[in-house]
Amino acid sequence: MSALVPAAGEPDEPNRGDSGDATASRPADAIWKSVIGATGSFGCERETFYRETVRDEQGWRLRFPATADIVFGVAIDSLHERLTMLHMTAGPTDEDGLREWLQDAATRAVGVARGRDLVRPLTDDEWLAFAESVLLAGEKLLGLWPNRVKANGDRIPDPEGAGPPVTWLDPEPGTVLRSQHRMSAPGVVGGRGISGRPDYAVMSAADGSIVGWADVKALSRAGSYPAKWTAGEAVAYDYMSTYENGGVVPDWHAYIEYRRVAKPYWAMERAPVLPASVRLAEAYFTRWERALDGDDPDALSFNPKACARCEYREPIEGLHPGCPIGGASLDISPAPDESDS
Ligand code: SF4
Repeated sequence: MSALVPAAGEPDEPNRGDSGDATASRPADAIWKSVIGATGSFGCERETFYRETVRDEQGWRLRFPATADIVFGVAIDSLHERLTMLHMTAGPTDEDGLREWLQDAATRAVGVARGRDLVRPLTDDEWLAFAESVLLAGEKLLGLWPNRVKANGDRIPDPEGAGPPVTWLDPEPGTVLRSQHRMSAPGVVGGRGISGRPDYAVMSAADGSIVGWADVKALSRAGSYPAKWTAGEAVAYDYMSTYENGGVVPDWHAYIEYRRVAKPYWAMERAPVLPASVRLAEAYFTRWERALDGDDPDALSFNPKACARCEYREPIEGLHPGCPIGGASLDISPAPDESDS
């Protein structure tokens, strides 16, 4: 197999959760961002309830095999982080140097993906195609691919204009970029607290306050994350940033998206953070608290579009009776065969 595809079972970084968290959550952990993330524009708030309340015999939240799409997103997170940190520490270099970075980062990213349990194991040919897709994403990130990219909604030529996407997070003077900065806000959601790690935080070099945060997403189509600023994930990050800033909202939040359309491209959507984000987060927290305190998933919204791929749809022996909403939804609209995922 290609040098880009490390042997199975030899990831060179620890397995990460869907959110990029490097460790599984312990029984007493605050509600993790990966749990909150299920309330995103394509998630289901009821699934969040099950992720938080259905535990194994030791009290741990359950982990499930991932789909190929989720694992691709994990690889893109790893690739982006590695290339961004190399860019930050070493600065621009020639094409040969960039390709050396890329080879190393892509191999690591595929290694991370190979360490994950999959719903359906990929064949060698599929892993090769996977690795080539990761490599292509890296070429576009570094500006090695003559293509057009998108920043803040405007198509711009690359490498002219805003520069290659790897430069989009270049910190302003007086700020520093941190990857995987862990944030938390204790006390909310009835004392359970929340915690999570956006892929990046830009912080003031003077006082360590959070100026902005950014998260990397791999999407299957253009603009497929429309409700991003009001979804549970974004407002939870806004809330935690504000909490860590002593009540001052960060200046901005951003999603850096790799959009896997016919001609894939990187896009960054960045917006100012408004105090209303904090109020909206508090409204989510109040609702989650009521549902969790009352052990009542019906207190939350649900999203039948998410049922086909939901791990809580079916009964889990001795732990979970199966979601009645999912059962009813699939009677009406059966799920596709999982071997298609
Ligand atoms: S089966 Fe459907 S409604 Fe039930 S938790 Fe999962 S996604 Fe939500």
